[in-house]
Amino acid sequence: MSESRIGLLAFQGDYEAHGKALARAGVELERIVEVRRLTELESVDALIIPGGESTVMGMLLERFSMFEALKTRIEAGMPILATCAGLILIAKNIEGSSQTKLGVLDITVRRNAYGRQVDSFRAPVKTHIPEIGTIEGVFIRAPKIVALGPSVESLATCNGETVMVRDKAIIAATFHPELLKDAPVHRWFASRI
Ligand code: GLN
Repeated sequence: MSESRIGLLAFQGDYEAHGKALARAGVELERIVEVRRLTELESVDALIIPGGESTVMGMLLERFSMFEALKTRIEAGMPILATCAGLILIAKNIEGSSQTKLGVLDITVRRNAYGRQVDSFRAPVKTHIPEIGTIEGVFIRAPKIVALGPSVESLATCNGETVMVRDKAIIAATFHPELLKDAPVHRWFASRI
């Protein structure tokens, strides 16, 4: 594998689980960097934006003056893996919300779209990626992708609905691939950097 460094946006949320998933995927520990400040962001070649609370992550990006720098890096083609709240944070449109967002991925999302009764569930996710195949999707207060822009490709579905997308170097999923025993999504992501 390469020398590239993979950052974990580490303000909040389950970034540690993503770090462990990268390690299970064979990424050497010295290539995994927790990112909480601008200099750390500048030192990485790719970034994972974890699940957690999208409103809080947006607010902290602004408070630590990283919002514009991150947006610029993503627009310049930095590989991104965004999951759940991370997907919300990078979406162009969030239904009924004026929260801070990076707006770099042309999708429309609906937050907490499965309702309060179904706080979390597991269901098979069929990907179109041969190296990944069908995996278990862990959905936790998950958003739904309700519209995809023309440049956005559906990479995976669950019960017929798109749950993972790609636009150039941005990969985003509504579920939590970091919680699987194996780490096929992280292995695939790392292999592309
Ligand atoms: N509902 C959360 C949000 O809107 C996302 C949930 C999660 O990341 N598990 O940020």
